[in-house]
Amino acid sequence: PAAGSVLLEVKDARRTFGGLVAVNGVGFTLRAGEIFGLIGPNGAGKSTTFNLVSGVLPLTSGEVWLRGERVDGKGAREIARRGLSRTFQHVKLVPDMTVLENVALGTYLRTRSGTLAAMLRTDRAEEARALAEAERQLRRVGLGEHLHELAGNLALGPQRLVEIARALASDPALLLLDEPAAGLRHREKQALAEVLRQLKAEGLSLLLVEHDMDFVMNLTDRILVMEFGTPLLEGTPAEIQASEKVRAAYLGT
Ligand code: ADP
Ligand code: MG
Repeated sequence: PAAGSVLLEVKDARRTFGGLVAVNGVGFTLRAGEIFGLIGPNGAGKSTTFNLVSGVLPLTSGEVWLRGERVDGKGAREIARRGLSRTFQHVKLVPDMTVLENVALGTYLRTRSGTLAAMLRTDRAEEARALAEAERQLRRVGLGEHLHELAGNLALGPQRLVEIARALASDPALLLLDEPAAGLRHREKQALAEVLRQLKAEGLSLLLVEHDMDFVMNLTDRILVMEFGTPLLEGTPAEIQASEKVRAAYLGT
């Protein structure tokens, strides 16, 4: 998609769980080439919003548009096929497979019928292609030296990068990351931010849920602050930082 064109549009999204309103009246527009941040206290509805956008959960009401087409109700697999890829809040790597195998497995699960059986039936040529693609994406996130290490032996920072490489293996236009910096050491956060800036420079667009304010402020182009499932304020990092409302939501003052 051309830089600046509308890539993702969420309109008046609402999701309830029984009597609980998890997301209510959330809307935003993400343009191609942007890093868009979604922030807010725990329970604000950020992960639910991600699940609605990526088709993991159906909306109670509202609309999601991806590259000019309405995609809500299409399901996660179809939305992924249209260029959206995501990670989950809790890292899910197979610890006793290598870094390379983990990413290649992600490729199989996406391109094949999604079952392990399908993967086991894969022919050698396809296996070679998946491994080559996995290696390419791992180099992109700076893990070229760690291809054959067991994923479970990596520190959390590199594990997050493996997750990102796995999400990149489908060549998405838009990548959704749910709290990628959570639990990372300072230096790991810096390395992650550097990778994300590089991906943006390559033309990828990013939607980022994050708890760590400093991380978001230094990385994103625009931010939507959520509170109790509703949008509180949208703006540039500078505008968000200057807002009394946002300070109150975060610090309770
Ligand atoms: P955040 O990611 O901002 O911390 P979530 O989107 O995970 O917030 O959660 C928003 C609210 O929705 C919370 O009150 C949470 O308990 C509730 N919630 C999220 N997912 C479910 C679910 N599958 N079933 C019931 N309640 C849920
Ligand atoms: Mg969450």
